[in-house]
Order: sequence, then C-alpha cells, then structure tokens
Amino acid sequence: MINMKIDSTKKHNRNDIIFIVALLLIATFGALYLFVFRDGGNTVKVTVDGKTYGVYSLNENITEDIHTGNGNLNRLVIRDGKAYMETATCPDGICVSHKPIFRDGESIVCLPNKVVVTVTTTDTDSPDVVI
Ligand SMILES: [Zn+2]
Repeated sequence: MINMKIDSTKKHNRNDIIFIVALLLIATFGALYLFVFRDGGNTVKVTVDGKTYGVYSLNENITEDIHTGNGNLNRLVIRDGKAYMETATCPDGICVSHKPIFRDGESIVCLPNKVVVTVTTTDTDSPDVVI
C-alpha cells in the first residue's frame, strides 16, 4: 500500500513537471515575441494638455523646444534612438531627471507643464498586440 502511494505521487510529480515545462516554454516564446515585436518603438508622440503637439521619429537626432504656454518650455532631445527631456521650466524637474525612453509604451510626463512624451510604434501594417 505504501509503495502504491509513492508510485502515484511520482506520477503526479511527473505530470506537474511536464505542465511546468510547457508553461515555461509558452512564457519563453511569449517573452521572445514581446522582445522582437515590442521592444523598441520608432516614434515619439508629444502631447500638451492632452492635445497632440508633434510626432517625431526616434531615428533622427533632434532638439525640439516645446512651448507650453505662459512662457513655459520643455526641451525634448532625441539622440541615438532615445528621447529625453533636456531642460524644462517646471519647478519639480521630474521630467528632466527621467531616464531616456525608447521602448514602446514608455513615457515621460511633466505634470506642471502638462507635457507627455510617449514612445509608440507607427507601423500600422501590424496591429498592436494587447495581452
Ligand atoms: Zn517637468
């Protein structure tokens, strides 16, 4: 009776392992898929107070002064495929200290100046993947 019990436990464990391996495989392929198709965006979209201010390619090195009204200014820099806020007139400076962004969906937000910089992918041939 004891032996039978052990046997059934072993079987159970083996099934668990197969299940876990299958899950890992799915997770690995899922991560690969995300890595290949969603890692880097190619476009930076800037909105000011919810309105689109401009759309810029991440492949071009630019310096764009975003005038947000009342003399406020956010200087967006795109260099080497990454976007960051070089200077800003906002009091907190959170946007300036934000690390450069380049992955699809990443964003820099400047709350005081109501500026949002978001990395997107404009390749509309392949629909965006939502998981
Ligand atoms: Zn700011």
